[in-house]
Amino acid sequence: MKTINHVSEMIEISKDYGGKSVGFVPTMGALHAGHLSLVKEARKQNDIVVVSVFVNPAQFGPREDFSAYPRMIDKDQKLLEGENVDYMFSPETSEMYPKDFSTSIHVGNLTDYLCGYYRPGHFDGVVLVVNKLFNIVKPTRAYFGQKDAQQFRVLKSMVCDLNMNVEMIEMPIVREADGLALSSRNMYLSPEERKEAPILHLAIKYAVDQIKLGRKDAYKIKREAMNKLGIYPDIKIQYFEIVDEKTLVPVSKITSKVIVAAAIFLGKTRLIDNEIVNV
Ligand code: AMP
Repeated sequence: MKTINHVSEMIEISKDYGGKSVGFVPTMGALHAGHLSLVKEARKQNDIVVVSVFVNPAQFGPREDFSAYPRMIDKDQKLLEGENVDYMFSPETSEMYPKDFSTSIHVGNLTDYLCGYYRPGHFDGVVLVVNKLFNIVKPTRAYFGQKDAQQFRVLKSMVCDLNMNVEMIEMPIVREADGLALSSRNMYLSPEERKEAPILHLAIKYAVDQIKLGRKDAYKIKREAMNKLGIYPDIKIQYFEIVDEKTLVPVSKITSKVIVAAAIFLGKTRLIDNEIVNV
């Protein structure tokens, strides 16, 4: 595996892949088995695999955890070597966003609810960095996790609207044995919080099971699921929504494919999770 730290070097490489297919996995590092599931799929489907490790300042709000976000590049490098990755691209912030940088991109509609509502500007930062990374890496296919279901749909919309020639692939959520979705932020949890964290997935699962039983009233199901989260006083619910899978608009009556999505604060740590349900 070759480690690339400069944008210009990655651009040189991507100028000529010799007609080979390129699978790309963008990450912010602190890699875990969830990230590696994307890398493994990229390895299976492509001749060349590129993984970026870049903590993108543009997608963090002013009071969010940009400086505290875990950075462990040596460990990440070893994990990616173990997956037979061809290039790890890990640029400096000053190269991605030089002083005179002034461009912004905004995807509307799909960012109105869920994380888009509670993290203003977050998806502008995500689409900006992924747009830049696609231009630098020039992948054939790009791999994302359903863990960030809204992010995937926002990025897919950007790729479609801007006629970008990248195949977008969404991979299932990798979980711990107790159901907690793997996340780089799980390492912020105290042992006590870690014990409480699986309740997020249990509450989502409850809603999913009710929908599968044929219940249609989204509001009632939501209320019941949120009550389950209420058993731990240190959990603060940011949102618990049942949204249309395509538009990401909350539904009142469940009649088509939906996403049950939630974000909570457990102490200071923000956790998100979701399930897609086909009615
Ligand atoms: P991040 O480093 O958090 O920006 O995540 C990089 C990519 O890994 C995103 O496409 C995430 O959706 C994906 N990802 C993160 N956690 C998981 C997980 N538990 N299962 C599957 N994919 C994940």
